[in-house]
Amino acid sequence: MAESIKTDVVIVGAGIIGLAIAFQVASDGRDVVVIDPNDPGSGASYGNAGTLAPYACAPVGNPDVLRNLPSLLVNRDSPLAVRPAALPALFPWLSRFLWQSTPVRARRNAYALAELLKDAMPTWRELAEQARLSDLIRYEGCLYLYRGKMPREDGEWGARLRNELGVRQERLTSEEVARLEPALPRASGGILFPDAAHIVDPAALTGRLAVAAAAKGASFERARVDRLQPQDGGQIRLACSDRSIEAQTVVLAAGAWSRDLAAQAGEKIPLDTERGYHIEFAMDTCPIKRPVSPVDLGFYATPMTGRLRVAGTVELGGLSAPLNPKQTALLERGVRKLFPDLGAVQSRWLGFRPSLPDSLPVIGHSRRYPNLIYAFGHGHLGMTLAGATSRMVASLIENRNEALNLDAFRPDRFA
Ligand SMILES: Cc1cc2nc3c(=O)[nH]c(=O)nc-3n(C[C@H](O)[C@H](O)[C@H](O)COP(=O)(O)OP(=O)(O)OC[C@H]3O[C@@H](n4cnc5c(N)ncnc54)[C@H](O)[C@@H]3O)c2cc1C
Repeated sequence: MAESIKTDVVIVGAGIIGLAIAFQVASDGRDVVVIDPNDPGSGASYGNAGTLAPYACAPVGNPDVLRNLPSLLVNRDSPLAVRPAALPALFPWLSRFLWQSTPVRARRNAYALAELLKDAMPTWRELAEQARLSDLIRYEGCLYLYRGKMPREDGEWGARLRNELGVRQERLTSEEVARLEPALPRASGGILFPDAAHIVDPAALTGRLAVAAAAKGASFERARVDRLQPQDGGQIRLACSDRSIEAQTVVLAAGAWSRDLAAQAGEKIPLDTERGYHIEFAMDTCPIKRPVSPVDLGFYATPMTGRLRVAGTVELGGLSAPLNPKQTALLERGVRKLFPDLGAVQSRWLGFRPSLPDSLPVIGHSRRYPNLIYAFGHGHLGMTLAGATSRMVASLIENRNEALNLDAFRPDRFA
């Protein structure tokens, strides 16, 4: 007979979002069960660029991307690729993405993102302190590197928007870039985001966050949730192959895999994945001190413990196709333009960003089932937004009287 588990809160998914929520909610004294068939932190949260990027308020879909789309799609070295076989399935997401990239919508999305991002660093500092993770975070800022001509201050949509939203960004001359990061080749200039930080080992961070949540009383079940079962009383029960779980609150935080589960609760949410890649080079001391993104190449090189990680590219192509070696070769060609003497690539990885067409996550109650809360779809910013999201979800669960305005993140905003 299937085992039946009862608890206060069950969290589906042990990525950075589910783990941060588990830690907060267990700290509030709730009985928490986290359910995932895989090791904590082994999804997108494992292989990302590790930046905590409070400056990144420009949505992926924006007027610059719209204008440059033809060259982004045909250029061999473009950081954007689409798998032709996936095009029919992608069509609804893509058409919404293009619609959200128009100036008025992109600007509205940027303002909503900026509201979340303004809490990103304070909430991360708090979470890192409470869960004893501070040694894994470096506060050195992030650097955009311009190898070609440096754009005018208001020359790019994203830069104009960051100015408008009061994001701290410092324009650097070629000499200033060289002083900051002497190992980089000569650039025409850069933009330093001094309030950003980076994680030196995302896998260690999620592993230790899981241990910290367990120390607060959270328990971990290794199983895949197969079905969300609405009950007569309007509650949701979770069914796995060998057990079922009943909870006062169910939190759906299964990253890029959340769409089909939400659909079982009757909610049609246009979540898809932007596949992203990394390659790593083993080294004791990295040539750079902080994440560097050469803007024309579209990746981040991030100094991590024992290695340089080069992460990025967007490949639209669904969850099932295997790693595409063209994408990792692109990252390798790109990073060798910065550091020609790098040794052999040590590892290659493919991960699945959970992405909505407007670059905003889904955070809040299901419209149909009061005990179901959504927390997924953080796209390029899940590491950055984990602290802020977990605090909001904990407030929803505890009915805390904080002035939460989750309108922009509603699950039914595309209906
Ligand atoms: C190349 C790349 C670079 C990135 N760089 C950055 C960066 O620099 N900064 C930043 O902020 N973000 C970055 N991101 C984005 C960030 O990694 C993601 O937004 C974040 O990891 C998403 O976290 P998550 O917890 O929602 O999902 P995940 O980490 O993917 O976790 C989801 C979990 O749900 C589980 N699951 C799935 N289905 C089920 C089921 N049916 N039952 C139970 N469990 C299930 C999975 O096993 C998985 O463990 C990057 C992403 C990529 C790919």
